[in-house]
Amino acid sequence: MATEQPLVYFEKRPKIYPRSIKGRFRDIKTAILGLAYAVFFLLPFVRWDRGPGFPDQAVLFDLPGRAFYIFGLTVWPQEIFWLAILLLFAAVLLFFVTGMAGRVWCGYFCFQTLWTDLFFMIERWIEGERPARMRLDKERLSVHKIGLKVTKHLLWLLVAFATAFAFTGYFTDSLQLAQEFFLLEAAVPAYVTILILSATTYTMAGLMKEQVCTTFCPYGRFQSVMFDENTMIVAYDKVRGEGSNGRHKPQKGVTHEQRQAAGYGDCIDCGLCVQVCPTGIDIRNGLQYQCISCALCIDACDTIMDSINQPRGLIRYSSENELEHKPTKHWTPKNIAYVAVLSLAVLVFGYSMATRSHMVVDVQQERQPLYVQLSDGRIQNKYIVKVTNKQAQPAAYRIQMTGLPQAELQVNQEQLAVAPGKTAKVNVFVRVPPQALHEEKQHFEFKITDLSGREEKIYTIDFYAPESLVRDK
Ligand code: SF4
Ligand code: SF4
Repeated sequence: MATEQPLVYFEKRPKIYPRSIKGRFRDIKTAILGLAYAVFFLLPFVRWDRGPGFPDQAVLFDLPGRAFYIFGLTVWPQEIFWLAILLLFAAVLLFFVTGMAGRVWCGYFCFQTLWTDLFFMIERWIEGERPARMRLDKERLSVHKIGLKVTKHLLWLLVAFATAFAFTGYFTDSLQLAQEFFLLEAAVPAYVTILILSATTYTMAGLMKEQVCTTFCPYGRFQSVMFDENTMIVAYDKVRGEGSNGRHKPQKGVTHEQRQAAGYGDCIDCGLCVQVCPTGIDIRNGLQYQCISCALCIDACDTIMDSINQPRGLIRYSSENELEHKPTKHWTPKNIAYVAVLSLAVLVFGYSMATRSHMVVDVQQERQPLYVQLSDGRIQNKYIVKVTNKQAQPAAYRIQMTGLPQAELQVNQEQLAVAPGKTAKVNVFVRVPPQALHEEKQHFEFKITDLSGREEKIYTIDFYAPESLVRDK
């Protein structure tokens, strides 16, 4: 009788010790990492003069003030649909790039990859290369081992804290935060935010590393939906690598030609491509969801091919079609459709930016009571006109009305002065003699003019009269 195997719900993952490697793709990754870190850490501290009454931080997401400042651009809540266009653009761009070039986002630009890369660099710097790290982990606990481990974790925590601090600086005045934080005078939410972000950065980039990509990230799981036989992926050329007899380690005195004649391929089974992989997979087993397309295995294999005087590219960016010696078609109907949607999003965004309004008008009608009859018989409706000045300088506005014959407009202020970035409101009364009223509800317009001559807005609203008054006519 066969014995039943117990079900395994959790398996401890083997620790991964990626080896460092030099090469073209490593250089590209390092350059992107340097640029991304410089932008991320320096941007919150760059100043930008917007005039009095406005923050002077180049990039500030001012949530309490309900405005986003991005250099010369100020985004108000009324323009938040731009965010929707940007998100659509980013999503379609991701699908398009993934369909064309695989997971380049994961391999080169994703925050998780960039931060994990830095945390790996620190680990290597403190504990040494792959063999030294493996030895260290096997060693018995000693002062030397504890010293290295503590130093590494302290450096990780320092980077995590710097990351959390810089991120928080995008949402508040970063220079003020820097002053107040260390004097213990910052607001409690700032400490809580920085603590939580430090903890998550340390956990995800230091402790979990590639597990975030292989276990939690949904993108890796649905990549196959976006891939097709024309997608450029990091791939092992099995035909070239294994010939008819498989891979084989080099043997002393056997030339490459003799190996080939014996049916062996170019792969010498050195394992370097596996050792450099930050997710610990063997690319020779084919496309796997754990592969983040970092291309370090290409650098590794190129190094080996150089050393045995064979052409590079046993592992390379390639499409399934190319591996099967068929042409790779990049401009498929699907990719053309993506480009069309991207172009449309750019056009809509550009048009919306070019025609953006510098004022926002909102009019509310007093509903209780909807109307009053004055002693002279005229019917009066009351409105509250709100004007938001989206410019960087003070503005004055005039309120007029059209569309109601014989109506009189009474505004408490001749001109409505509004400070930059602020909203002002004013009570407005509209009075109409009974003989001019023919319907219970009549449309008319408020016209609000920016006195600098820049813009005017029309707001359509209703005037209400008592039903008895209109019916009796
Ligand atoms: S690095 Fe190249 S030669 Fe070495 S095992 Fe990997 S595929 Fe084979
Ligand atoms: S298989 Fe190659 S490209 Fe994929 S994650 Fe590993 S090293 Fe990077």
